[in-house]
Amino acid sequence: MSYDDIAPASQALFARGKAVTPGGVNSPVRAFRAVGGTPRFMASGSGPWITDVDGRDYLDLVCSWGPMLLGHAHPAVVEAVRDAATRGFSFGTPGEGEVLLAEEIVSRIPAVEQVRLVSSGTEATMSAIRLARGFTGRAKVVKFAGCYHGHVDSLLAAAGSGLATFALPDTPGVTGAQAHDTIVLPYNDISAVEAAFALHGDEIAAVITEAAAANMGVVAPVPGFNAALARISSAHGALFVVDEVMTGFRVARSGWLELEARTDDTWAPDLVTFGKVMGGGLPAAAFGGRAEVMGHLAPAGPVYQAGTLAGNPVAAACGLATLTQCTPEVYSRVDAAAATVGRLVSEALSVAGVTHRLATAGSLFSVFFSADLPVTYDQARTQEAWRYSAFFHAMLDRGVYLPPSAFEAWFVSAAHDDNALDRLVAALPAAASAAAAAHPEIAKDYS
Ligand SMILES: *Cc1c(COP(=O)(O)O)cnc(C)c1O
Repeated sequence: MSYDDIAPASQALFARGKAVTPGGVNSPVRAFRAVGGTPRFMASGSGPWITDVDGRDYLDLVCSWGPMLLGHAHPAVVEAVRDAATRGFSFGTPGEGEVLLAEEIVSRIPAVEQVRLVSSGTEATMSAIRLARGFTGRAKVVKFAGCYHGHVDSLLAAAGSGLATFALPDTPGVTGAQAHDTIVLPYNDISAVEAAFALHGDEIAAVITEAAAANMGVVAPVPGFNAALARISSAHGALFVVDEVMTGFRVARSGWLELEARTDDTWAPDLVTFGKVMGGGLPAAAFGGRAEVMGHLAPAGPVYQAGTLAGNPVAAACGLATLTQCTPEVYSRVDAAAATVGRLVSEALSVAGVTHRLATAGSLFSVFFSADLPVTYDQARTQEAWRYSAFFHAMLDRGVYLPPSAFEAWFVSAAHDDNALDRLVAALPAAASAAAAAHPEIAKDYS
């Protein structure tokens, strides 16, 4: 039986989608290219469950790639969105909701005195980089191989990791000129950062890093890495931009920086970017920092930045209702669910004799099919990702929806209770066996 036999409605929609949309999807990872098979078209969600157009339900371990920290269709959030929608969708004027959301963000994050609301994480990092360049009057930006900051032209240049290698664009459509000012360095390598600053220190506007890398699988910063980036940036007059789009409001009340501050509160970022959880599933994102830096943004300052739907009242209501529900209890439930899922998966793989490591960063986690935990992108890429395809499909067949790539983080919500995790427990032994039996040549059949 092929996978398509059990997903005829998804199969039909995928065919129609392909006719009118490149690759049939509106964001590449959704197409299942890394694992093969037909992407499931989802029709609805409730708590930890999602249901596809064929009527099959799945335990959701993607949670929209992070935003659904409370689970799907949380009643209080649905109510807030309905309320806002009845009053009109968008005015192109300021409104109360965006002030409330900004106040909530500022109140949660000590390093953020002011925020600007935007509509996607990509816009947040793009705007933060522009602001850093405008503020410092410098051009170059340091980023780390394997860190994803959205599809910003200059930040898609992740190739050529190596000491002060001026990056080549990763994709056609990004010109050499756009990539030219990007310096890509190996993640977790402080001496590479020091060397880059020794060479180009007075030309570097900003260092940008994921607060904890989670777009190459989860690769946590080694202790002291983020602190060193803050120190080196500041010593050279560059801004330190921490991308909390994935980690923000998910791994803790404010985000990853809060976890680090518990052991070292001697440093702070200059700018922070947010998205995902803060929109609660509607398009809302933000970037923020010290008032002195943010004050350079138009109309207060000269650096232009704008958005027709920025601070959209319905999205702001959804984000605010979500954050309001993100109580300490929610975070302990998320932490507990993440720990349980990680433990169960790791135990099942061990029983099946599959070499693997569970990588964690707060409540974010992923499984590497390798003997060692990676600290760089080059190391992360050496895993036996073909085992993941077999594992993924065995889980999907048993009603567990995992990220359709071995290089993505797994996400849980506060609604992932023990009852929901029974689905996982039932699916794991067969999926772990499938991973054990997988073979790189067979895996090719998936794609
Ligand atoms: C998802 C993500 C982005 C991009 O956000 P979009 O809303 O998809 O544009 C940026 N940075 C990080 C760390 C992310 O995980």
